[in-house]
Amino acid sequence: MTTLSRKYPQRVRNELRFRELTVLRVERPGVSFQRIVLGGDQLDGFTSQGFDDHTKVFFPQPGRAFVPPVVTDEGIVWGDGPRPASRDYTPLYDASRHELLLDFYIHDGGVASNWAVTAQVGDKLTIGGPRGSLVVPEDYGWQLYVCDESGMPALRRRLEALSQLAVRPQVTAVVSINDAACQDYLAHLSGFDIYWVTDHNAQMLADKLASVNVPADDYFIWLTGEGEVVKSLMSRFDTAAIDQQLVRAQAYWHKK
Ligand SMILES: Cc1cc2nc3c(=O)[nH]c(=O)nc-3n(C[C@H](O)[C@H](O)[C@H](O)COP(=O)(O)OP(=O)(O)OC[C@H]3O[C@@H](n4cnc5c(N)ncnc54)[C@H](O)[C@@H]3O)c2cc1C
Repeated sequence: MTTLSRKYPQRVRNELRFRELTVLRVERPGVSFQRIVLGGDQLDGFTSQGFDDHTKVFFPQPGRAFVPPVVTDEGIVWGDGPRPASRDYTPLYDASRHELLLDFYIHDGGVASNWAVTAQVGDKLTIGGPRGSLVVPEDYGWQLYVCDESGMPALRRRLEALSQLAVRPQVTAVVSINDAACQDYLAHLSGFDIYWVTDHNAQMLADKLASVNVPADDYFIWLTGEGEVVKSLMSRFDTAAIDQQLVRAQAYWHKK
């Protein structure tokens, strides 16, 4: 097969909107994840076509009302004054209930993580986007997903979608986690080859990926996680034999 006949992920753009949403429920989809279920009139028209889309989430500052920026033809124009802290989260949109779910991995010392553990029904949260999506075909015969806890919501969204296919592709997920208890977040998904790397063991992760054989064609590779980890993962798959348009690599967070 020549590269010309390959099916590639496609970018689509969305109208950029900022939405003030209301916390409808707070749930625990796993021991390490806090789920915030959001709704409200401003959710109307929400769309997210890519499994690894992101919404920018703006965290309220005590005593300050959030004034969203104005979207102009020239770009986004913020008013004067300090901007609120923002972080990227994977939108898990439930169309049947018209609700937006955000699953926060709970870790020490984060604005986002701290907000999620203290969020209450009725709280307000402003989100922006997704501004664009990468629509990745679901039917690549061979698919590899590598992530840590921060990518588990996107992985979960993807595996749930792949579960609906009449013909299931061959999927391997390699998930690096701090605590084995985290596995419960994906426990409802069966029939996928999920390999767990505990204690974020870099050697175990490297060894597992060294044993992976990417086929000559019909593959897709997704690599996310901490910035330095993703860099080293990329170098493993950055070879002439692998079509880089079929490799999606993105840092989801940076160790500080
Ligand atoms: C496209 C995209 C989608 C994402 N989707 C999700 C999602 O659905 N759910 C989710 O939980 N995260 C997701 N992330 C990752 C999330 O944006 C980052 O982890 C973010 O830094 C968390 O913000 P915070 O305010 O909690 O921590 P920060 O204030 O950014 O950091 C505080 C401290 O925590 C450390 N830290 C940050 N993130 C992590 C982590 N994941 N594990 C361990 N230590 C960390 C930092 O190094 C720092 O020392 C996504 C990122 C991207 C780019």
